[in-house]
Amino acid sequence: MKFNELNLSEKILKALNDIGYSETTEIQQKSIPEVMNGQDIIGLSQTGTGKTAAFGIPAIENVDVANKKTQILILAPTRELACQITDELRKFTKYVENLKILSVYGGQSIEKQIIPLRRGVQIVVGTPGRIMDHMRKKTLKLKDVKMVILDEADEMLNMGFREDIETILQEVPEERQTLLFSATMNEKIMAITKKYLKNPKKIKIKAKELTVENIDQIAFQTKNNMKDEITTRVIDLYKPEKLIVFCNTKKKVDGLYDYLKLKKYNVDIIHGDIKQDQRDRTIKKFKKGDIKILIATDVAARGIDIANLDLVINYDIPQENEYYVHRIGRTGRNKNIGKAITFVVGKERNKLKEIEQYAKTKINYQNVPTITEINKAKDIELVNQIKNIIDKKEFIKSDIFDELISDKNIDLKELAKAMFTMINGQNTSETTESCEYEVDENGFVRLFFSLGKKDKIMVKDIIGSMSANTAISGKEIGKVNILDKFSFVDVPESYVEDILTGMNGKQIKGKNVNIEVANVSINF
Ligand code: ADP
Ligand code: MG
Repeated sequence: MKFNELNLSEKILKALNDIGYSETTEIQQKSIPEVMNGQDIIGLSQTGTGKTAAFGIPAIENVDVANKKTQILILAPTRELACQITDELRKFTKYVENLKILSVYGGQSIEKQIIPLRRGVQIVVGTPGRIMDHMRKKTLKLKDVKMVILDEADEMLNMGFREDIETILQEVPEERQTLLFSATMNEKIMAITKKYLKNPKKIKIKAKELTVENIDQIAFQTKNNMKDEITTRVIDLYKPEKLIVFCNTKKKVDGLYDYLKLKKYNVDIIHGDIKQDQRDRTIKKFKKGDIKILIATDVAARGIDIANLDLVINYDIPQENEYYVHRIGRTGRNKNIGKAITFVVGKERNKLKEIEQYAKTKINYQNVPTITEINKAKDIELVNQIKNIIDKKEFIKSDIFDELISDKNIDLKELAKAMFTMINGQNTSETTESCEYEVDENGFVRLFFSLGKKDKIMVKDIIGSMSANTAISGKEIGKVNILDKFSFVDVPESYVEDILTGMNGKQIKGKNVNIEVANVSINF
């Protein structure tokens, strides 16, 4: 069904058209007319099925813009989701004048929220806790509320918001419409709906045979200490434009990040220890394509609307079967074939079987791509690029080069081979052969040390060993940054050669250390 068959106002149709919504999703098609008729509903459908518009569009249609008081209250479990809903509703109301939508959530200064609330906001989207705070402060008045929406009700209840939700529902006028949306149904939700919804209509969209059919799913049997390396091989082989790598812990996210960053990949991370606004920025950049690889934990990625990935890597096999589907469901949408690769270590083979059964799918083991295969893939790409230039005749002009190719003594086949060798040499990420290194504005060069926190190395160990084995003294050493698996040490350029030779074969805290000039400048 198309949105223009739904009796929506022109301004909203125009905005929907702008953002490329023409066909409704199932939950939208079934919910929008019911909600516009004043019906309470329980909307059940999987993540990613368009629930926001299913309640958001009729909610907007229900607002009286002449009245500045709060008329619609939307409860969401987290700040991210509240913001996402607000963003989405603002898109829908691009052409509607005098309609104000605000998100309120903990973590943001309450004063910042009070000012717009005083001026008048018709739709308030918030986390239950912060909405309660505003109710207590009387900065949010609910007298005119005619619709309350509980989004992701299962999550809110899991997070312990039950009492807050009940308090809020008791405070809003009896004469109101109540909508509840959730991905799953359980007893706790039933209890809430019985108590606070009036003859609700249940709209349940059957879970699709989770789009995993559209996803090419493979597994690599590997070892824990090979995962970083294999991740880079997979990236080099498939060259994804949008990739999420899922790890089970924050620590692993950090570790892999250090590794990929060192190898100059365009990568960033989200996990629970990273500040909210930083996470928001990262996600925005990732969606825009400014970041190509995102490493995430399940929790941090949950509920965030990032789809259309061309590849998902399960660096760690998911702890819950359900996570597998959530993770890989972010690829292979809109009829595109997606790809999901799961790393399996030892006994995790059994876990993978369990996942296959749960997701009713087949995950095939394949051999880990070898360096030879990756080089072959690189060559194929290079040859294709060359063919493309020949096809389009996009040649750069150079007199000196023309002179070379018109020289009768030059074998053109050999010339082509030489050029291929040259380009290929530049393409490999091995820069260790080169003696040139970057010197910063203070005259320092960054060195890479193959020991890190996991080796219990401390700054004083590095400084001690360097001053014992080379001419550098402790106070001449610049910044030292010890990461999980390795460290960076800034030293004056004049000492670089001395350190590389003087430290060669030496140990720090009884461990062999490999030192190189870092081939990337990471700011820390
Ligand atoms: P849910 O709340 O069910 O998880 P969302 O409302 O977050 O789903 O929608 C998931 C994604 O689908 C979003 O990127 C949204 O912009 C997009 N979307 C929703 N409805 C439509 C539609 N009718 N046409 C195109 N895209 C849509
Ligand atoms: Mg949602």
